[in-house]
Amino acid sequence: MSVLPLRLVASLVISGLALLLLGIALSFTPARAATGPAPRDYDTSAYRYTDKPAPASVSAGIRTLTVYVDRDFGPAERERIGLALQQWNHVLNGLVRFHTGLLPPDPSDQALAQIRRSGAWIVAKVDSRHPAARERTALAMTVGGRGGGFVYVIADRFGTRDLTAVMLHELGHVLGAGHDPRGHLMSPVYDRSNGHCIDRGAVAMVASAQHLPLSQLNWCVGPGLDDGRYSSQ
Ligand SMILES: [Zn+2]
Repeated sequence: MSVLPLRLVASLVISGLALLLLGIALSFTPARAATGPAPRDYDTSAYRYTDKPAPASVSAGIRTLTVYVDRDFGPAERERIGLALQQWNHVLNGLVRFHTGLLPPDPSDQALAQIRRSGAWIVAKVDSRHPAARERTALAMTVGGRGGGFVYVIADRFGTRDLTAVMLHELGHVLGAGHDPRGHLMSPVYDRSNGHCIDRGAVAMVASAQHLPLSQLNWCVGPGLDDGRYSSQ
């Protein structure tokens, strides 16, 4: 992808920024990549989000995270990314909020550096030749931390229909969640039937990273998911 030249990434690394940041080189692998019939679309109709009232503390000041989406994504892809951002905004219930914009067309290095200095995140469309795609089974890679960063979507490794799920997972990393091998959305291995919504385990990791009260956040409930009723929090 042309708008994010390697030298910009290199200069960010050299500036020492990378030392401050959490880099998550994830192996977000298609679970059924090897053999078998093409998986059918998973039936998500049995799943829904809780809908708690917005916490009173929201008026005290909403924390916002700005996400710029690469213009190399087409309209259908942008819509899928938008759906992931919307779901996280619902889950975060106003305590933290994603604001979304499009990257300017053909941004200069200077413009990109300015965006990065503002603490924003950039969702960049790359392909398997990009340095961020070095991990051969990765579908995406998130590099950054409190000061913003990049979500690299390795778009030639999966279809558009999986983009919302992949972005739900990556935005979990943006919000500070790590991987949970026994988890659903934040499993290190992508499984369409498991990663289609933001489950309580993913929300709990984000709540912990962002110092948010888990009880005031929303999450996905449905078959096989923990609805929180039987746990201590
Ligand atoms: Zn991951």
